[in-house]
Amino acid sequence: MNHPLESNHTNPHLPCPWHQAAWTLLNRSWDTQRFPHAILLHGVPGLGKKLFAQWFAQALLCEDRVEGLRSCGKCPSCKLNQAGSHPDLILVSPEEDKQQISVDQIRATNESLSLTSTRSGFRVAIIEPAHQMTIAAANSLLKTLEEPNKNTVIIMVTSHAASLLPTLRSRCQQIGIAVPGTSSAQAWLEQQTGKAVLPEVLSYSGGAPLRAMEFAQGTFEALRQSMLPGLSALTDGNADLTHLAQAWADEQLPERLRWLDYWLSRLIRQEILRTADPVTSGTLHGAQQVLNISAMYRALDKLRELSERLRRTALQPELALMSILMRIHQSLHARN
Ligand SMILES: [Zn+2]
Repeated sequence: MNHPLESNHTNPHLPCPWHQAAWTLLNRSWDTQRFPHAILLHGVPGLGKKLFAQWFAQALLCEDRVEGLRSCGKCPSCKLNQAGSHPDLILVSPEEDKQQISVDQIRATNESLSLTSTRSGFRVAIIEPAHQMTIAAANSLLKTLEEPNKNTVIIMVTSHAASLLPTLRSRCQQIGIAVPGTSSAQAWLEQQTGKAVLPEVLSYSGGAPLRAMEFAQGTFEALRQSMLPGLSALTDGNADLTHLAQAWADEQLPERLRWLDYWLSRLIRQEILRTADPVTSGTLHGAQQVLNISAMYRALDKLRELSERLRRTALQPELALMSILMRIHQSLHARN
């Protein structure tokens, strides 16, 4: 028997089917009149978190809401949202050419949230990516969360929830968008792209279908082809590491680091399971010696540590890459 609050629990109108669980939670808080003033929407990149936040904001601002917290699509508020110009919806992201969301932007948002709604009663702010707020910005937002204005909802969106101030996190209802199951994600991808999609495209994308969709449009194969010669040379032991580091640092470095991580992980898995792997097959030739798994794991840890440091600090990309490549080279040719 359905619980009365769950009677309407499948919503086919959501931007993506894997948003269902998040919507059910929010819908339940709405029905029980315990709707939060602040929501932290988190999950890995490529799950359409911002799409969901915008869809949800439209539902909150709708003047003729359909039962179950969903917008009508026809009222003046919905029309304004579709045109991207609803005066009660504030979108906060880093300004052009800036990495971070500034304290001035958050102050302006706080001020705007303190005004009365121009239409339906709510004012909504979406802050994305929330982990890119400066410390001063986060502290300024914290004050608003501690003394929320009536009828305001702040939705923070992030793929790095752990980087947010713990005090910010604890003042929000935290809602995770989970990676969908492989078979349903695969089916969704094939339906969207109208063609068969390699399972490796989805696994490379960390299981996130929207990210996989970008790669399914040909960039996955292009990246594989451009990584192949260098990785082959690495496993054969005849790579010119200086040249390789220079070439990779110059072009698509973050993507190449992700590919390197993916390739090395698959290589380790292949070595453990002793099965052929379509991702590594083009890079391992003939009778390869038995690989040293613990050395490869250490190289993988080093790669992840340096990738994270490259993301956060002004590390010299070429030098960092050179040290990663040397480490991988050594691990591939280390004796057991
Ligand atoms: Zn509406």
